[in-house]
Amino acid sequence: MPETVLTEAHGSEAPVTSKPKLQILLCAPRGFCAGVVRAIDAVEQALRIYGAPVYVRHEIVHNKYVVEGLKAKGAIFVEELDEIPDTQQPVIFSAHGVPKSVHADADTRKIFALDATCPLVTKVHREAEAHFRRGRQVILVGHAGHPEVVGTLGQLPKGSIILVQTPEDVQNLTGVDESNLAYVTQTTLSIDDTRHMVDALTRRFPQIIGPYKEDICYATTNRQEAVKRIAPIVDAMIVVGSSNSSNSQRLREVAERSGCKLARLVLRADDVEWDLFKTVKSVGITAGASAPEVLVEEIMDAFAARFELDVEIVSTADESVFFPLPRELRPSNGAGRRGRLGGEATEDQSDDNIEVEEELREH
Ligand code: SF4
Repeated sequence: MPETVLTEAHGSEAPVTSKPKLQILLCAPRGFCAGVVRAIDAVEQALRIYGAPVYVRHEIVHNKYVVEGLKAKGAIFVEELDEIPDTQQPVIFSAHGVPKSVHADADTRKIFALDATCPLVTKVHREAEAHFRRGRQVILVGHAGHPEVVGTLGQLPKGSIILVQTPEDVQNLTGVDESNLAYVTQTTLSIDDTRHMVDALTRRFPQIIGPYKEDICYATTNRQEAVKRIAPIVDAMIVVGSSNSSNSQRLREVAERSGCKLARLVLRADDVEWDLFKTVKSVGITAGASAPEVLVEEIMDAFAARFELDVEIVSTADESVFFPLPRELRPSNGAGRRGRLGGEATEDQSDDNIEVEEELREH
């Protein structure tokens, strides 16, 4: 039962109901990463330069709130290029990356394509290509069907990359040249699961070549590390993010595996199952790389309406990563000129400090 206290209000005693206390540990870093900021900025900048509508192939980032916000500004989201009418307006490819066939299709249709693929996803694409050029069979560790995996598989001719999702998949691999193998991974996997996958690969294929640096991106790593620090010492964890966001789902899993019995992934405050939180004394809050801070604030406000909060920020890493906009959208590079087609986006991204060749030289 909530305690009833007496207070003086406007000169008279009035009963008020005090709220139960709740400690909130707020993960830092959390929320938007540099790739997501760049992708959202790309759509907004394209809308500023070219006006509405701007077409976006697939959710620009996996967050419905972000997508609805961009729709309200004039973005039209499609899943495939054939849904787009004949138009001079730009078409933006999402942060997850696209198969090469999509660039080729854009060329054929003379679509004005702008590529918002995260440079760290492009880095994985270039790694796969470099291995292929060296005659290696490429293995991709990732989740079947995720757009990033579809995009990475689509960098090489069909059948050139083998997708593995579990250590059992690794054990069951047949017909590969064990002396000529390389692997790459999806950028948003669980760090621990990926370590097990890499162990399985290197145990079975001791000569396999892996990335010089991790393929799992800095944002995924930092957000998972922050959750590992907090999840064991709180009664519950809230991960703010969409259910189709890979890195957000991984954060919820990491919280559970770190010993937190009540870990929930929620998009908005309305999605919180408040009954489950009635008796908790401490809650950890984080947000996936595609979840905007305004949604974290909404959820904090919803907790504040129910509890007396004691908020502490637990910081486990500093982030200062920044990716410039695609070249066509940078004011200093003649933003506003139409005419670059989908296939040229690859060249554009050579700007983004992707030094894959240098990394592969080690091998
Ligand atoms: S989560 Fe990582 S790979 Fe994905 S957009 Fe963000 S920085 Fe890029």
